[in-house]
Amino acid sequence: MSLKVVKFGGSSLADARQFEKVAAIIRSEDDRRYVVPSAPGKRYDNDTKVTDLLYSLHKAAETGEGFEEIYARIVKRYNTIIADLGLSLDLGQELSTIRENILNGASRDYAASRGEYLSGIVLSNLLGYPFVDAADLIFFAENGDIDEERTYEAFYELTKRLDRAVIPGFYGRAADGSVKTFSRGGSDITGAIVARGVNAAIYENWTDVSGFLVTNPRIVERPRSIDVITFRELRELAYMGASVLHEDAVFPVKAANIPINIRNTNEPDHPGTLIVNNLRAASSSPITGIAGKRGFSIIHIEKDGMNKEVGFTRKALSVLEQHNISFEHLPSGIDTMGFIIQTDSLQGQGEAITREIGKAVNADEIELISGLALIAVVGRGMIRAKGTAARIFNAISRANINIRMIDQGSSEMNIIIGVDEYDFRSAVNAIYAEFFPQD
Ligand code: ADP
Ligand code: ASP
Ligand code: MG
Repeated sequence: MSLKVVKFGGSSLADARQFEKVAAIIRSEDDRRYVVPSAPGKRYDNDTKVTDLLYSLHKAAETGEGFEEIYARIVKRYNTIIADLGLSLDLGQELSTIRENILNGASRDYAASRGEYLSGIVLSNLLGYPFVDAADLIFFAENGDIDEERTYEAFYELTKRLDRAVIPGFYGRAADGSVKTFSRGGSDITGAIVARGVNAAIYENWTDVSGFLVTNPRIVERPRSIDVITFRELRELAYMGASVLHEDAVFPVKAANIPINIRNTNEPDHPGTLIVNNLRAASSSPITGIAGKRGFSIIHIEKDGMNKEVGFTRKALSVLEQHNISFEHLPSGIDTMGFIIQTDSLQGQGEAITREIGKAVNADEIELISGLALIAVVGRGMIRAKGTAARIFNAISRANINIRMIDQGSSEMNIIIGVDEYDFRSAVNAIYAEFFPQD
């Protein structure tokens, strides 16, 4: 038996047709027994997610403007799904309780969580699986972290009682007893906690793409999807902006050694991407993925003999610390050093802070360069494949692009390249074409 937890994102539950696909996927394998739904997402490009409607509803309750109109849209979303599915389910009582609670001052988190709550009731009715409220299973501690002991004890009790269930995503119960949500996209975290809680063999995360793509589809046209990726690689890519899965969804399953399988509800036969713990998992390419972001600056410092000067880096860093600024990378040479910083975090103070650092370390030269994009090229295969860095640099220089900065992470599976923002797209495309030429 290989017990599966299946989480379905908002696009997988946007309307009745999508609910039917979801039900067919669950019914096609008896191992798919614990189900975590999101709130209905967008049906088309400029549609509004139910979660966003609920945030607006909560706001409208405070300002007194437009409440009834938004409420009617939410009621219609669910009633249309129920009618199109042909269910004899009446959410009338639930909806009016939610309405009253929000009008009587229920919290913003409570309002937002009702999207998944109602979605869960509809799905449990459609599947004939019992509904279990996430607020009775997932508990937060005072400090906002998950209260693991209480949570996993509740799951242990659940598995003794029910061998299948629908558990809504996105929320749990705070230490004071109120409903509390995760940050946006947090149903991914619920799925991971449920997978760990019921001791699943695999956590299937069903979405609208056939797995984690090698790079952002908005930069490279139709990039291929990754077959297998490690948690470490995924984290490096996610940090640089590749987001299919909520960042915090990795921790519960990683600790329990449960693989995640990203799957496509609209293409259920595609194997998708498998996310695993094992660093030695075979890889066919030295590169697993490419991610990147615009909006970085570099403070470039030169001073003869800085590497021999005790306390040099500390003096420079203490200026950043005084301004409460963190840095992303710190490439350094014998007489040079650079702080790579998110331009936003400098809050227009970049020039002044640069001068301050110059004074603190008595620099020969110091310069602030803005308008930088960073590209992370990540791959566990790099550790063994020689010449990967050379291939990346050749590809970029063949595209006539100037590299402003290079940094190799100590993990040896991440090379960070800085280029001018206007070269960002071409640089990512050049690297992609070098390593995946036939695509
Ligand atoms: P869900 O509603 O199922 O939770 P999300 O919108 O949270 O789905 O995540 C899926 C989306 O992530 C995709 O539709 C895609 O636009 C986006 N995405 C960003 N980077 C990548 C990538 N590297 N690979 C695949 N999808 C990506
Ligand atoms: N519905 C929530 C959101 O839109 C949570 C999720 O979809 O994961 O952020
Ligand atoms: Mg999501």
